[in-house]
Amino acid sequence: MKIYNTLTRQKEVFQPLNPPYVGLYVCGPTLYSYAHLGNCRTYISFDVAVRYLKHLGYKVRYVRNITDVGHLENDADEGEDKIAKRARLEKLEPMEIVQLYAVDFHHVLDQFNLLPPSIEPSASGHIIEQIEMTKRIIENGFAYEVDGTIWFDVEKFAKTYPYTQLSGRKLDDLLEGTRDNLEGQSEKRGRLDFALWKKAKPEHIMRWPSPWGEGFPGWHIECSAMSTKYLGEEFDIHGGGLDLIPTHHTNEIAQHVACLHKSPAKIWMHTNMLTVNGQKMSKSLGNSFLPAQLFSGNHPLLERGYSPMVVRFFMLQAHYRSTLDFSNEALQASEKGLQRLMNAVKLIPGLKTSDNSSFDFSKIESSVYDAMSDDFNTPIAIASLFEGVRIINSINDGKDSITASDKESLQKFLQDIVFDILGLKEESGAASDKVEGLMNLVLELRKQVRANKDFATSDKIRDALNELSIQVKDGKDDTTWNLG
Ligand code: AMP
Ligand code: ZN
Repeated sequence: MKIYNTLTRQKEVFQPLNPPYVGLYVCGPTLYSYAHLGNCRTYISFDVAVRYLKHLGYKVRYVRNITDVGHLENDADEGEDKIAKRARLEKLEPMEIVQLYAVDFHHVLDQFNLLPPSIEPSASGHIIEQIEMTKRIIENGFAYEVDGTIWFDVEKFAKTYPYTQLSGRKLDDLLEGTRDNLEGQSEKRGRLDFALWKKAKPEHIMRWPSPWGEGFPGWHIECSAMSTKYLGEEFDIHGGGLDLIPTHHTNEIAQHVACLHKSPAKIWMHTNMLTVNGQKMSKSLGNSFLPAQLFSGNHPLLERGYSPMVVRFFMLQAHYRSTLDFSNEALQASEKGLQRLMNAVKLIPGLKTSDNSSFDFSKIESSVYDAMSDDFNTPIAIASLFEGVRIINSINDGKDSITASDKESLQKFLQDIVFDILGLKEESGAASDKVEGLMNLVLELRKQVRANKDFATSDKIRDALNELSIQVKDGKDDTTWNLG
């Protein structure tokens, strides 16, 4: 099994520190808004990694945190806390905001059939651990206090340890890029210094006592404190989206090293971005949409709705380290592909067996496993699976043959790969076939009503369907519908 390590920039043979246990930490969401489809891509990628590692026999402790305090509006530790701001605007308690979006986040990941993490710790539940870590970093000489705020001294750290190893950037370039950062932040000594602890202004709601007065933790320290608490001072894999490399993960490593004199994770694993017309999907760029919009088709970018498993399959048809561009065409192709795959799986129990098999199925099996063991290469694994689909259809048509024992192994293999590792599941096909049939009937009757110019009845039908969350759109040539 090889995994690409961002730290060393190469694929490495994966050897857990304490086999068969594997410790994996993935940075979770900041719960101040709904998770968009880009966020989901990252978590789906790690879900497949966890599923595959478990399938190989490892006992995975998967820690994915939730950020409920300390993530300020920009990466230079300025502005308001994202959650506190939302709470202020909506006149709610910060923890009401967090709860609202946590419930939605879990619901969405459940729709995509993600396994829950082993531990889901929150930043606000680990204030003591973050204060302890901050104290040790100060003791070790890599942080300083100015008026109740603790800053990490990046330039001092960089004199002893490689600060930019993860991003591969040059320290001088980073300094150059932050030339204006000190404006209005006179208390910070170096332009790249970041906050471990911030003094709370009088109006700040989320605040805790500390040796430096009332305040709240910085964003990066939560992950250092929680990963150390649950996975130890050194663990196997640390992950997240690659947009976290330059600041959040770079600073996480620096804090950990400054506190414990060792790097937290052996392997850093980063997922690439979901894009729309080549641009990163992001809330701030206004090109993001929510999974619920994708399922219902209720968004200007969407021609119609797509089911959660179609979307999951679409995501897995790209390697997690490549960008994946959203498009209706690609989703429609994934829908067809998934249907072919699921149909083939359903055909297996009914396949007639013979005295010999006309093909060597083990070749497909090993190419699927080789792909998955090569840095979780799901697109190659899926391409090989389709070779299996072709053979299954050909046996079904009587053009190829299979023995009873090969049929049994084939069934077990597909169960493992399709359901346990890729995490796909049957969507109630029979029910949706019926809904499809019913809707065709209703819309056909409505068409006749409209042909008779009985628009009142036609609107009544449309409104009644809307009440059932079924949206009906009258186009130029035809009428389409989708489930809201
Ligand atoms: P956030 O809540 O913004 O911290 O993001 C949660 C996770 O989603 C992080 O690991 C991000 O790197 C990841 N993420 C954000 N945008 C995208 C995107 N367009 N594609 C893939 N992952 C993303
Ligand atoms: Zn993190």
